[in-house]
Amino acid sequence: MYITASKLYDYMQCPHRVWRDEHGPKDEKIEETNPFVQMLWDRGINYEEKVISKIGDYLDLSKGDFEERFEKTIEAMKKKTPLIYQGVLIKDNLRGIPDLLKIMPDGQYVPVDIKSGMGREGVDMENGKAGKLKKHYAIQLALYSDALNRLGFENKKIGIIFDIKGDEIIYDLNLPLGARDNTTFWEFYENTREAVSALLEDKIKNKPAMAGICKLCPWYDSCKKWVTEEDDLTGLFYLGRSRRDKLYEDVKIKKIEDLLNADIEIFLDMKKRDKEFLKGVGEKTLKKDVIRANILKNTKEPVVYDKVDFPKVSHELFFDIEDDPTQEFVYLHGVYERSGEKERFLDFTAKDITIEEEKRAWGEFWEYIRSLPKDDFSVYYFSPHEKSTYKRMQRTYSDVISEKEVEEFFDNPNVIDLYQIVLKNTDWPLGSYSLKALAQYLGFEWRDETPSGALSIQWFNNYLDKKDEEILKRILLYNEDDCKATMVLKDAIQKMSDKK
Ligand code: SF4
Repeated sequence: MYITASKLYDYMQCPHRVWRDEHGPKDEKIEETNPFVQMLWDRGINYEEKVISKIGDYLDLSKGDFEERFEKTIEAMKKKTPLIYQGVLIKDNLRGIPDLLKIMPDGQYVPVDIKSGMGREGVDMENGKAGKLKKHYAIQLALYSDALNRLGFENKKIGIIFDIKGDEIIYDLNLPLGARDNTTFWEFYENTREAVSALLEDKIKNKPAMAGICKLCPWYDSCKKWVTEEDDLTGLFYLGRSRRDKLYEDVKIKKIEDLLNADIEIFLDMKKRDKEFLKGVGEKTLKKDVIRANILKNTKEPVVYDKVDFPKVSHELFFDIEDDPTQEFVYLHGVYERSGEKERFLDFTAKDITIEEEKRAWGEFWEYIRSLPKDDFSVYYFSPHEKSTYKRMQRTYSDVISEKEVEEFFDNPNVIDLYQIVLKNTDWPLGSYSLKALAQYLGFEWRDETPSGALSIQWFNNYLDKKDEEILKRILLYNEDDCKATMVLKDAIQKMSDKK
C-alpha cells in the first residue's frame, strides 16, 4: 500500500478519509465523482496541458504502467535529462508522480507541481503581503522530495509550485510553518506521512466527523449514516472532530445522549482545578453543546432567545452572491426585493469571465442600491462572505465605489447578516445551521433538484463554455431561491420573536 501525494492531501482535508477509502464499506461509497470536484480536476488538467505545451523540450513519461515509468524515470535521471514530465518515483512505501522533475545546476533534481491556484495563500498585493506557503502543496512536494532523496537524486528538501499566474514559487521545506510555530514543513510532512501510513495499514482507526467538506466527499451518505447510528457528537451543530475527541478522551462522552446525561458542573469544577482537563473546551461552549443536544433530542423546537426587531422599512432586500472562489470571480449579485405586496427578483450577472463584465455587473448592483429610498430599506444576507468579498472587490474596482461607501453600507444597522443572528440568538433542532438546512426545516423548497453553491459554480463554467441560456436560467433560479430562503428565515425568526 503506497503513500501517495493525493492520500496526504485527502488526510489534510479529512483525517478519516484515508482510513475509509482503504477499509470503509465500499458498497456505501458513491461511485460518481461530484461534478464540482470533477470541474476542479478538469481545470487542473487543462491548465497543466497549457503550461506543458509552452515549456519547451522535455521527456514525456506519462504513458505506461507505474513500474515501467519508474524504471524510465531512474534511467533518465541517471542520464541527467533536464526536464522529465510525469516521471514516477517509487521507494519503500512512497509513490509520487510530480508533474515535472527539473535538474538543478548541481545535478540534483527538484520536483515541480503545476497548480491551477495561487502558489501562496493570503496574498494581498495592495498591502504588500506576499502570502504564506500552502501546507497542502508543501506536503505533496515533500513526498516527492522524500522519494527523490531516498533514491539518491535530491538532498535539499526543496520543491517548486508553478501557479496559475505563471509564477514559480520555491517551497523550502526546511522553513517553519509560521511565526508562532517552529515545526518545519518537513517535520509536518513526516508526521502526516506516519499518520497516513498507520491508517492505511489499519494500525489506527479514526472516526468520521461531519464538517462542511463532507458535502463534496463520496463517503458523505455513509459517514452521515454512521454519525446518526452512533449518535456521534459531531451530529450536533458546531461540535467538530477535535472537541468530540477531547470529550471522549477526558470524560468518555461518546454519544449525544451521554452528553445529556452528564453532570457538566462536575466537569467545570474539575476544569478549574486541572488546566489540562478538557483543554480548549470552554465553559460557554460546553453549556451551549448541552442546550443544543437537548433541543435536538428532546424539545425538538427552535428557540429565539432575545426579542428581535427587524427594521420596518418600505423596501426589504434579500441578497446573495454567487462566486467562483477558485478564480476569485463574482458572477452574480442576486436580490429578492419585497416592497409592500410587491416582490421581484433582480440579478446583476457577469456573462463572461472578464474584468469588464465583473465590474459592469457590480457597478449595476451599486446603481440599484443607490436608487433605493435613503434610510428606508433593509438588506439581509447569510454569512460574512458577502462582506469580505465586497471589500476585496472594492480594492480591485475602486472607481465603482469608494472604500468608505462599502464600509458605511455594511455598518448600516439595516444591513444584516442573518447568520450572526441565527448563531447568537437562536437554536434549532438540527445538526447544521446552514441556510439550506434551516429553510428546508421551515418548509421552503428549492426548485432545483440538487441545489448547491458548488454546483452553481460548475453550471456557470458550463455556461461560459456553451453560452446556453438554459444553464444561465438554472443559475438564476437557484440564486433567487437562496434569496427567498433568506426571506423565509428572516420572517420565521421575526414570528418566533413576536410570540415571546
Ligand atoms: S464524508 Fe466527511 S467524515 Fe466522511 S470521509 Fe468524507 S470528509 Fe471525512
